[in-house]
Amino acid sequence: MHKKLFIPGPVEVDQDVLDQMARPLIGHRTKEASELQRSISDKLKKLFYTNNEILLSTSSGTGLMEGAVRSCTRKRAAVFSTGAFGNKWYEIAIANGIEADLYQSEPGKPITADIVEKALATGKYDLITLTHNETSTGVMNPVSEISKVIEKYEDIVYCLDTVSSAGGVKIPVDEWGVDICIASTQKALGVPPGMSICTISKKALEVAKTVKNRGFYFDLLKLHEAIIKKDYQYPSTPSISHMYALDYQLDKIFEEGLENRYARHEEMANYVRTWAKKHFELFADENYASITLTNVKNSSNIDVSSLVSQLDDRGYLISNGYGILKNKAFRIGHMAETRLDDIKELLGVIEDILKL
Ligand code: PLP
Repeated sequence: MHKKLFIPGPVEVDQDVLDQMARPLIGHRTKEASELQRSISDKLKKLFYTNNEILLSTSSGTGLMEGAVRSCTRKRAAVFSTGAFGNKWYEIAIANGIEADLYQSEPGKPITADIVEKALATGKYDLITLTHNETSTGVMNPVSEISKVIEKYEDIVYCLDTVSSAGGVKIPVDEWGVDICIASTQKALGVPPGMSICTISKKALEVAKTVKNRGFYFDLLKLHEAIIKKDYQYPSTPSISHMYALDYQLDKIFEEGLENRYARHEEMANYVRTWAKKHFELFADENYASITLTNVKNSSNIDVSSLVSQLDDRGYLISNGYGILKNKAFRIGHMAETRLDDIKELLGVIEDILKL
């Protein structure tokens, strides 16, 4: 039996999008491949409201996170973290021998413009990382306010993780002044896992030229040079099957209309939050609650593992709390092609199991 996915990624993917991945392959050095890759880049520029170039990577988002930190840190990185995925940026920096400092918010609370302002005022940093939507805690950071602080520091390369928000929430890359904005296909974009995306600014590319050890596979400068010189073709063989699916799904996203899509995500988020507050509590500060997933605090002390497994028996998958939040919270994803009716169906089943 197929289990309906309500985890915060990977998500349910429409059958017609899945079918795209079964199309016959084309050579990755053909005119058709160039056209496909250029088409995706043009559509993604619209999705991210940017004139910056797009890079595609046949890896999940973590690969491009590594590429960003490694390719563009000259001196020292400031990592602003709201939870486990924010902390990952720090682990990546350290694993690559890059000097970095970790600034963490209180659990369930966001990173504020104030925290960023104080850190940047030290003058120690030339790259910063921020997570837009922290999938482990269900907190969505106030990126618009934070961006106003960052724009005062012209030398800083600004990296933003929108892995679990892009496609469900507006991400105005140029307005926010983001230099490298990263997303993965398997979340609100509604495509299978295995490919990731980033926008890259001229500033980030200029900076990368001054960094010596940019690595190899995720050297963002090399990726960019390749697509410019070779008409959108990548240095190594990309997942053409993912590209078919992504290109097709982007058309569906624009057919729905971006504003409609964002409104649908808000509606689902509001519904789940109201439900969560009725029966439990929200883990995240409500003013900063995520629009693509809800982290429900286990305030009624239920057996979360048992709930997850009983749902599984009935054909639904939700996520236990992440890491240290295991059994202390559970997470419901409401993104991509999930509709309010799907959410109502899931919550009805949870109520039945828990006798709410
Ligand atoms: N950042 C966030 C906020 C995530 O939710 C995830 C994955 O869940 C990642 C980064 C890592 O992305 P990927 O699994 O595509 O490497």
